[in-house]
Amino acid sequence: LPNGVPPLHAPRKLKLATVSLAGCFGCHMSFLDMDERLLQLLEYVEIDRSPLTDIKTIGRCDIGLIEGGLCNAENVHVLREFRSHCKTLVAVGACAINGGLPAQRNQRDVGQMLRDVYCGQTGIDAGGQIPNDPELPLPLNHVHPIHEVVHVDYYLPGCPPSADAFWTFLNDLLAGRTPQLGHGLIHYD
Ligand code: SF4
Repeated sequence: LPNGVPPLHAPRKLKLATVSLAGCFGCHMSFLDMDERLLQLLEYVEIDRSPLTDIKTIGRCDIGLIEGGLCNAENVHVLREFRSHCKTLVAVGACAINGGLPAQRNQRDVGQMLRDVYCGQTGIDAGGQIPNDPELPLPLNHVHPIHEVVHVDYYLPGCPPSADAFWTFLNDLLAGRTPQLGHGLIHYD
């Protein structure tokens, strides 16, 4: 284990779910960067709905990790589902906490942006039309951090949070302690 990072401890096996909303999956990649520590984590945690298991529906869970903010109606639906199924909900990374990079579009009109991309002269398909299949989730006018829609229990900052930050955070959570990262584990690179 890296210096100063405690071994994992939990009183019982907990259920964990993860999801990426309006995010880039970088936070999930950082979670995977725990590498061989994931094997130890799995002794204490069962992973429910997650891109890591490809389970599509969420059951009753102890911990929900949310990557990404809210950019469309489906994100809001999934977030509410996670909130109602998870005892502890964690906003993971800058996008979930404050909208992050996707929120840069908040300075512009979403309808105009879609027209520029799909119908404009410089778009990916000049002269095309804005996709309007009913199965596509409706985009929101603005990208929102998740705390604007549901109660969030904890915030794990970073872009992405480092693997050591995930490890320390989860270790505290599994042991029933309030997570304490300290300055060394909070950075944005
Ligand atoms: Fe990607 Fe950073 Fe957002 Fe995580 S916080 S989803 S790494 S952009």
